Amino acid sequence: MSGKFDVAIVGGGVVGCAIARELSSYQLKVAVLERAADVARGTSGKNSGVVHTGINVPADSVKGKYNVAGAQFFEQYCADLDVPFDRCGKVIVALGESELPDLEALKAKGEAIGVQQLEIIDRDTLKKMEPNIEGAGALNVPTAAIACPYTLNIALAESAAAGGVEFMLNTQVLDINGEQGSFELETPNGTVSASLIVNSAGLFADKVARMVGVTRWRIWPCRGEYLILDRSKGDMINSMVYPVPPKGGAGLGIHITPTTDGNIILGPSADYTNDGDDVRTTAKVRRQLLSEATEFLPGISPRDVITAYSGMRPKLVPSSVGGFGDFVVEEVPEAPGVMQLVGIESPGLTAAPAIAEEVSRWTRERLPAKKNLNFKKTWSSVRRTREEELGVIDELVAEDPGYGEIMCRCEMITRREIVDSINNELNATSLNAIKYRSRATMGRCQGGFCGPRIVDLLIKHGGAPESLTLNGGGSWMFMGSTEDLRAERKAQRARAK
Ligand SMILES: Cc1cc2nc3c(=O)[nH]c(=O)nc-3n(C[C@H](O)[C@H](O)[C@H](O)COP(=O)(O)OP(=O)(O)OC[C@H]3O[C@@H](n4cnc5c(N)ncnc54)[C@H](O)[C@@H]3O)c2cc1C
Repeated sequence: MSGKFDVAIVGGGVVGCAIARELSSYQLKVAVLERAADVARGTSGKNSGVVHTGINVPADSVKGKYNVAGAQFFEQYCADLDVPFDRCGKVIVALGESELPDLEALKAKGEAIGVQQLEIIDRDTLKKMEPNIEGAGALNVPTAAIACPYTLNIALAESAAAGGVEFMLNTQVLDINGEQGSFELETPNGTVSASLIVNSAGLFADKVARMVGVTRWRIWPCRGEYLILDRSKGDMINSMVYPVPPKGGAGLGIHITPTTDGNIILGPSADYTNDGDDVRTTAKVRRQLLSEATEFLPGISPRDVITAYSGMRPKLVPSSVGGFGDFVVEEVPEAPGVMQLVGIESPGLTAAPAIAEEVSRWTRERLPAKKNLNFKKTWSSVRRTREEELGVIDELVAEDPGYGEIMCRCEMITRREIVDSINNELNATSLNAIKYRSRATMGRCQGGFCGPRIVDLLIKHGGAPESLTLNGGGSWMFMGSTEDLRAERKAQRARAK
């Protein structure tokens, strides 16, 4: 932790990592401080993965500006970083005749912000496009797309690290002293010095702002739970299926969304909580999600659900007030030298590339810098064997037999992909670090088959069993050997006699 950085970025979500990558194209000394054991462990790894067109945001808002700009270059961004992307389109469905006028209003809102090719379709056209969906009509949004959110976050971080950015994982910023030019960020691992700070701490951005004396924001966490359906149900829809957004609601309503891996996700719910870390999933919401989703898609059952997850919206407006809360993307007079990114809820994933460009401009106005010739414009985190042609797989197996050994049978992930995930650029060592890089354990059996084999590989690659965690912190995988446990029990029994 020695040395002084030009820029310290607090938070390794998609926004912080997009900024890190953008800054890595200049000769700047940049650090990312992330409290979790890996990047993409906050909201950025737990959302709908939708590249929004901007149809739901006011044209004159900060959200609207960055949403539209980000969406424009998202496809190329994903291509450069080898991130799965699919312009599958979206239909916003009116369940009954009474919702049809809402579609017209949405169309007008979308056109005001510049969304192209919007079209109201009737019941029959909807049925042709989406045979399994029930509805009285829909707004067709063919330019909407999906991308893999955690692969993007990880690729941004790894390409930035390869370009010279220093990633400090398990490093929570506890306090900040000093001023522009000489900030001191206090962490449990020591002090980090930096000239400028970027506050991209997501759900805790209000707390980081307070560390530099800015008290004007409060974040109200709002949990969104999802269900993931088995891949065997993946072809029930061709595009994203959204309801008409609930008026004054905290989100866009429960939608049915394909993922780039061929699953369908149902969600998200919207429940305000007092704790940004309370990402539990509940039986109550599971029932609610299934009930609401089956109104549109009657052919799904509870048996199709393989797992659940939840993401937390960093809302700037409490539930009692409701309504629209805009993004904050600015340096405020109370804290010169700190770029504040607060309230970056949806569509923050879509907006991240455009926010990163803005922060890069802001940084270079204060710290002019030459181009970095070592910038990694293109990046591929882990080569996905399952997407290759058979002939190519043969060549890969000849190069390394690991490409021919399936370790995760549900998702068809090879041993080589697990090894590449273990040898990641950030030195993230948890089981989840492997999961989110390779996709192993994400299938129907949820790691029942491949989990122990991955642990075996981790140990072979130098991880001591007692140091292995699921997700960093105290999430230890093992508590000791069974032999030691047996000996301990035997000794206890002997003492009791
Ligand atoms: C339910 C839901 C669905 C969504 N769907 C979409 C969608 O389909 N499309 C879209 O465009 N957007 C969507 N979003 C929004 C999008 O996910 C977020 O806007 C985006 O991920 C925010 O990224 P971030 O980097 O700002 O925050 P985060 O991903 O939360 O990252 C912040 C990071 O800061 C770290 N941190 C916090 N405090 C500290 C500290 N003191 N020290 C060090 N590190 C710290 C955290 O651990 C975290 O990793 C959705 C959000 C939710 C909740």
